[in-house]
Amino acid sequence: MVYLDNSATTKIYTEAYEEMLPYLLAEYGNPSSKYYEKANNSKVAIELSRERVSKLLGCSIEEVIFTSGSTESNNMIIKGVADFYHHKGKHIITSAAEHPSVLETCEFLVEKGFDVTFLPTDCFGRIDPVQLEREITAETILVSLMWGNNELGSLNDMNAISEVCKKRNVFLHTDATQVIGKLEVDLEDYPGITFLSCSAHKFHGPKGVGCAYLKQDQYGILTPITPLFHGGGQEGNIRSGTLAVHNIVGMGKAASITNDNLQYAIKSLGENEIYLHDLLQTKFGESISFNSDVKDKIPGILNVQFKGVNNELLLKQLAPYVSASTGSACSASKPSHVLAAAGYTIDEIRSSIRFSLSSLTTQKELDVFKEL
Ligand code: PMP
Repeated sequence: MVYLDNSATTKIYTEAYEEMLPYLLAEYGNPSSKYYEKANNSKVAIELSRERVSKLLGCSIEEVIFTSGSTESNNMIIKGVADFYHHKGKHIITSAAEHPSVLETCEFLVEKGFDVTFLPTDCFGRIDPVQLEREITAETILVSLMWGNNELGSLNDMNAISEVCKKRNVFLHTDATQVIGKLEVDLEDYPGITFLSCSAHKFHGPKGVGCAYLKQDQYGILTPITPLFHGGGQEGNIRSGTLAVHNIVGMGKAASITNDNLQYAIKSLGENEIYLHDLLQTKFGESISFNSDVKDKIPGILNVQFKGVNNELLLKQLAPYVSASTGSACSASKPSHVLAAAGYTIDEIRSSIRFSLSSLTTQKELDVFKEL
């Protein structure tokens, strides 16, 4: 059996799991408490994780705000910017191929009176930075565009997008959930990015934890937004709630391993994607086509069309040998909005499957396709 649904979630690194355990048993102190050892130990562990995550992202330690994951970070940033800056303008730009945690948040804001532009995409789900620039007006307070697409694996041109937003002086938020650990993400190279979201379980950390990056100014002040959670004022008053110490510790360790292994991971994901591509091509020939056949993409994500075959039925048949998914909460009544935005017909969408690898996937495991 080969697990090829790593864009949905990954296996936690054993080292990350082991480092979490003490914080569920002996070190259960609340990091917001003071003076006694258990509280201090939790606080030290949180700060080590913050440092490890900041190294992975190439940002300052203070710019990392722990959350429950990308869904929360996306909500927090988009709603937080909308609320804080609505007096400056009520226009937000996003794309039609975003994750539902961005799309639904934007739809919610439309109901609250905001004007949202949903940029169209090319056949790989990527937006055109020139069109983005054309859509920015004096009313635009936020651009929210994913770095890499979770269904097709294609990459938006983040360099160009970052430059446009910097030039036009507009906040840029990027949902980087799918690219962390599969691409070099050094925020120093992207001065136009003001906010970023990520989830630990996509890079072999635990589920239910992630972070938001909020850029700080030259005085060390984080870009202000209205908090999503009000309460005890944790995380610099931006994200209240007792910190999930064990999860944050696991995220920190996973971030550290991911950082150390990044070059190997990128190479292995790329090579194994080609290996899988060629295996499928040899096995299925003309009866398949690759929806994500583009050069510049997240390594390790392959979206494949099995012509004339229903994807849900195929996934069921494959399940004893291969764990994969359609790439979205695709149901008979709701086909993938990403493939739809990329111009695929309903029939093409309903015959498409996403295979997503991790750096732990081996060619020997992929050989299961030879036996099918
Ligand atoms: N954005 C993208 C691009 C994703 O792939 C996901 C997870 N599928 C999310 C956001 C949401 O992440 P989480 O479920 O961990 O909150």
